[in-house]
Amino acid sequence: MNKYRIAVVGAGPAGYFTAQALINSADESRQFQIDLIERLPIPGGLVRWGVAPDHPKIKTVGKVFEKVAADPSVKLWGNVNLGTDLTLEQLEDNYDAVVLATGAPIGRKLGIPGEDLRGSHSAAEFVPWYNGHPDFKDANFDLNGEVAVVIGAGNVAMDCARILALDPHELDTTDIADHALAKFHASHIRNTYIVARRGPEHVAFTAAELRDLPKLEHTDVHVDEDAINQALARVHGEEIDKDLKNNLEALLAISEKPKVGHTRHLEMMFSLAPKEIHGDESGKVNGISFTVNRIENGELIATDETVTLGCSLVISAIGYESAGIEGAPLVRGKFENIDGRVVGSRFNNLYTVGWAKRGPSGVIGTNKSDATEVVKLIVEDLASPRAGKSVGELLGTDHLIIDQSKWEKINSAEVAAGEPLGRPRVKITSIDEAISVAISE
Ligand code: NAP
Repeated sequence: MNKYRIAVVGAGPAGYFTAQALINSADESRQFQIDLIERLPIPGGLVRWGVAPDHPKIKTVGKVFEKVAADPSVKLWGNVNLGTDLTLEQLEDNYDAVVLATGAPIGRKLGIPGEDLRGSHSAAEFVPWYNGHPDFKDANFDLNGEVAVVIGAGNVAMDCARILALDPHELDTTDIADHALAKFHASHIRNTYIVARRGPEHVAFTAAELRDLPKLEHTDVHVDEDAINQALARVHGEEIDKDLKNNLEALLAISEKPKVGHTRHLEMMFSLAPKEIHGDESGKVNGISFTVNRIENGELIATDETVTLGCSLVISAIGYESAGIEGAPLVRGKFENIDGRVVGSRFNNLYTVGWAKRGPSGVIGTNKSDATEVVKLIVEDLASPRAGKSVGELLGTDHLIIDQSKWEKINSAEVAAGEPLGRPRVKITSIDEAISVAISE
């Protein structure tokens, strides 16, 4: 029986699904010891910091991760930062395989003038801020203006726009961070625009998310019926796939839904490419201009026409990139890899999975099949088990590790704080506080 030691870096969906796939690959001939390394004292990754608070069903996948964590072959090493506490080289030297499941936490830039003005942010800051990520708890979003503009036509843009546009009472019983809930209750934003650079037939939203919009209880959602009919005409006669058909139907349903006259509005705009973000003399955002695009024979053609929206907040949600790690080169925002095998690894034992491998695409469940495929390669590549030190031995005794039992204390404290309020949990947003709860008697 061979016993292999695998280090998985990042306790988010890709990391847990990798651990799960490894557990499932154990048999009479091989077993695994899986060390799950997480920078924060709190695991969960995108499930905790990415999924919108008003979408609790998506978070139920956390139950699967709890089961994985409870497996005797899995050990959580929280509060361990690859790059400062440990080097990649150390892990490669000491483990049979190392899997980078570190996601894609950096927002892509629009690359237009005015992007760095105050009031212009990336969804990569806004989403973790409202979800209580410790790195973003002190971020400042000015919600004193009436108009917010969200750039992008993917589900992240949709989440940002919906959260800005809904009545914050709809968030009262969620696990949104307290600081964000208070800020949304005081928000003056009443008109939120979500702006796509291409047509309705090109949006990256999924139909399930679109169908949620008319369910908002205190927000009128506007989609121009003509724009959808024109898109339907453009695709008419083509063989269109189910997803596109569902999207266009969902968009049409929104456009046709009678407006109630709410004071809160969410409006979708199409065929507008961001051109420049404008600011006042103090350097604060006061508008954004777009080049009007035309779609002809499936081609996007920029016109001379410009549309300007006055606004005080711009959130760009146009995709993500991975953060670099010394020893693992990034190419186009992800670790350079072939099917998950990282290119140029010294001992051919470095792998990547999830968004760090394939870029920011797919839903959380997509990482399961992705992890299964990468684990197949790992198993294929394994030779004889190598001797090496564990994370604990590499770190020494002074380093405070947040293991599964310590994380469970944090989790229980959060859940207990939420219970009297009818909330799933009240999130702890400070690393120091999380650690003090974890080590309390
Ligand atoms: P995405 O789905 O790739 O969407 C990115 C959007 O940004 C696209 O509409 C793209 O338009 C647009 N864009 C890119 N560059 C732009 C530019 N320079 N100017 C204007 N628009 C630009 O990415 P995402 O929304 O970040 O989502 C990432 C993944 O997470 C997706 O697979 C998504 O479905 C998933 N997710 C799922 C859920 C859920 O299931 N509830 C929630 C959140 C995220 P073009 O198409 O024209 O390039």
